[in-house]
Amino acid sequence: MKIYNTLSKRKEEFVPLEEGKVKMYVCGPTVYNLIHIGNARPMIVFDTVRRYMEHKGYEVNYVSNFTDVDDKIIKKAIEEGVDASVISERYIAECKKDMAAMNVKPATTHPKATEEICGMLDMIGTLIEKGHAYVAEDGTVYFRTRSFKEYGKLSHKNLDDLQGGNRSLLVTGEDQKEDPLDFVLWKPKKEGEPYWESPWCNGRPGWHIECSVMSKKYLGDEIDIHAGGEDLVFPHHENEIAQSEAANGKQFAKYWMHNAFLNIDNKKMSKSAGNFFTVRDISEKYDLQVLRFFMLSAHYRSPLNFSAELMEAAQNGYDRIVTSVSNLNYLLENAASEKMSEEEAKLLEEAKGFIAKFDEAMDDDFNTADAIAAIFELVKFINTNVSAASSKEFLQALKDEVLMLSDVCGLIVEKKQEMLDSDIEALIEERQAARKAKNFARADEIRNELLEKGIILEDTREGVKWKRA
Ligand code: AMP
Ligand code: ZN
Repeated sequence: MKIYNTLSKRKEEFVPLEEGKVKMYVCGPTVYNLIHIGNARPMIVFDTVRRYMEHKGYEVNYVSNFTDVDDKIIKKAIEEGVDASVISERYIAECKKDMAAMNVKPATTHPKATEEICGMLDMIGTLIEKGHAYVAEDGTVYFRTRSFKEYGKLSHKNLDDLQGGNRSLLVTGEDQKEDPLDFVLWKPKKEGEPYWESPWCNGRPGWHIECSVMSKKYLGDEIDIHAGGEDLVFPHHENEIAQSEAANGKQFAKYWMHNAFLNIDNKKMSKSAGNFFTVRDISEKYDLQVLRFFMLSAHYRSPLNFSAELMEAAQNGYDRIVTSVSNLNYLLENAASEKMSEEEAKLLEEAKGFIAKFDEAMDDDFNTADAIAAIFELVKFINTNVSAASSKEFLQALKDEVLMLSDVCGLIVEKKQEMLDSDIEALIEERQAARKAKNFARADEIRNELLEKGIILEDTREGVKWKRA
């Protein structure tokens, strides 16, 4: 498996730190609003990387944070006259709903910055002790950038070039810096802002320190993969490397992965220019599986353009797989024979070739565009080689193959069959009878079975009522 590493600017063979295990950290969103479709790109891309790793047999420890203390969150909280945590908790809940609708698996851990302040104080303390950070007169703690000799190794920038081109780094209020390149680790509170006590001043952390600390706490000093959108390479990830490696004395992450940006109608997404969509906006028009399919139809390191035509094309592509699976289901229900014939066994061998093609594409730095092309080839093969005369065993094996490859991409291509009202009512009656007979285990089992199919039961005084979720 090859991964393009931003650090070395080339594709490298993936060798995990520990055999069979992957430790992966993906920078998550700042939660002050509904997530937009640009934010959805890294979520979908790195969820697919995770799924492929799991498909290959790796145990993946996947950590993705929520930045829940930030200027934009505080601004919104002041506007609404509520606590900052009201805003962040609201949008974390909304973000989780969008993730579920896009079939993005929950991370192993989703830490929040505000719950990790202790770790941040520890790391900042270590950096001061080691001479990599200093406290200014007003209590701001800065990282002493020039003290970290390898600064610039990720973004391939030279410190002196940075110094020349970044006089603007010396912004108002930060004039106590020793050097314009230094960046904030801890800053004093402002009136009306949330703050924490620290040895330096009552205040709050800078943005970069949170990821260094959460990665260390949940994954250890050294991890396999650190990922995010390409805008994070500099300064966010560069600063994370400086903090973590200066504090821990070890290489922070072995592989750095960055997705390219999503544009709308070939322009940078911007609220003020009116070309801006939240994931929720898209969900009103499309199944979010189509959005997922659209995101994966391009390589993650290529810029991706969002337009109505391209979404229509994605809808057609996705439907092609769904239709093929639904056709297989129809044939399966009516199959004439059970066992596979010799001829079918040969065809099935041929169909295995598409798995190899899929894997080859994914092994090449997660080329999901080619991987989806392999699924299409499989679908075409299925459509030409199945009929009413096919055996159950053959049909099932083909269906398993499409479902497996789609699942690696996180695509749900089998539509759950809706239960008939009469079937639901029969089960409710059986549940009532079970309750009467004090067989509560069976009654619960029926309730859960119905719940799995999206049927919610409500016990009322007038009897049992049900509705579809
Ligand atoms: P933010 O909430 O701005 O920190 O962004 C969360 C994640 O979304 C980061 O990994 C960003 O790099 C990524 N991101 C933001 N905008 C876009 C975009 N237009 N295209 C792709 N990724 C984006
Ligand atoms: Zn981060």
